[in-house]
Amino acid sequence: MCGICGKENKNFLCYECREKLQKEFEFKKIKSKNNFFIEQYYFFKYKNFARKLILELKFEKKPYIYKTIEYFLEKNQKKLEKIKKYDIIIVVPLSRKRKLKRGYNQSQLIAQCISNILQIEIQNGILYKTKDILPQSTLNKEERIQNIKGVYSAKNIDNIKNKKILLVDDIYTTGSTLNECCKVFAKSGIKKEDLGILTFAKD
Ligand SMILES: [Zn+2]
Repeated sequence: MCGICGKENKNFLCYECREKLQKEFEFKKIKSKNNFFIEQYYFFKYKNFARKLILELKFEKKPYIYKTIEYFLEKNQKKLEKIKKYDIIIVVPLSRKRKLKRGYNQSQLIAQCISNILQIEIQNGILYKTKDILPQSTLNKEERIQNIKGVYSAKNIDNIKNKKILLVDDIYTTGSTLNECCKVFAKSGIKKEDLGILTFAKD
């Protein structure tokens, strides 16, 4: 079934929808202005078909949508070459409770697609969430910054020292979640030059 229109399709993405999605595919790189990471990538602007796709993956309990995304990214494999320089992928974690409720971490699925295509290993068990918080999507910018403070922690840092790390999340909105994760890395001694971030969509 096509992950966008629902038509029968063995690749989980029909030709028509792939064409539409292709028009939205930007895969932009933005140079970071902060002290925590060197560059930021995103595949899509958070609107139209890409928005529909990521929201279904996130809120509609449709993990098979990752196959739609993987097929699409595979077709764009050449463009992904610019992130091949990264040694490992780390995924922004969900709390245990949220993961249990949803059954999966949508950012992990996106990371898995990239990992499969570019053969970059995902390192789990490094970054983790220390407590449950209100969903960021229900809060405004100020509230998000407060809500997320001190929520992440890192362990087994020796496993990732001196490696180029790509931190993956689903949607970049105000950046408070990713900033918080990057601060944890900075505190652990990870250099800004070794850290890039990638999100599926950017608001
Ligand atoms: Zn379709």
